[in-house]
Amino acid sequence: MEHSDCIFCKITKKEIPAEIVWEDERFMAFKDITPKAPIHVLIVPKRHIPTLRDVSAEDAAMMSEVVAVANLLMSESHLGQKDYRLIVNCGKGVGQAVFHIHFHLLAGKMFRF
Ligand code: AMP
Ligand code: ZN
Repeated sequence: MEHSDCIFCKITKKEIPAEIVWEDERFMAFKDITPKAPIHVLIVPKRHIPTLRDVSAEDAAMMSEVVAVANLLMSESHLGQKDYRLIVNCGKGVGQAVFHIHFHLLAGKMFRF
């Protein structure tokens, strides 16, 4: 289900622009507008799921597919880096600002934690 006021639904439906690096029927990956690392891409399921808390058993395939998407993007043919960090913020208290689930794919620097 889409949310008409959701910025990531608008991006995945190409109603507003983004720097898309990859997509298929189920996911879109685009560059974060304020990157926190040399590579900072958001992997976004096209289906509107607000937070990690809303992930159910029927989303099990999506949760494993996102790892496959990250591995694909971090293969040599795509972003040119091998090692990466994949993180999700769940809730305002840890900084979630966009309530359409997204996986931050970060690479190109050393993270201390
Ligand atoms: P979070 O704080 O985990 O909800 O992450 C939201 C992320 O979306 C932030 O890193 C923002 O920089 C990024 N962001 C917000 N709007 C856009 C946009 N229009 N295009 C690309 N990235 C965006
Ligand atoms: Zn959405």
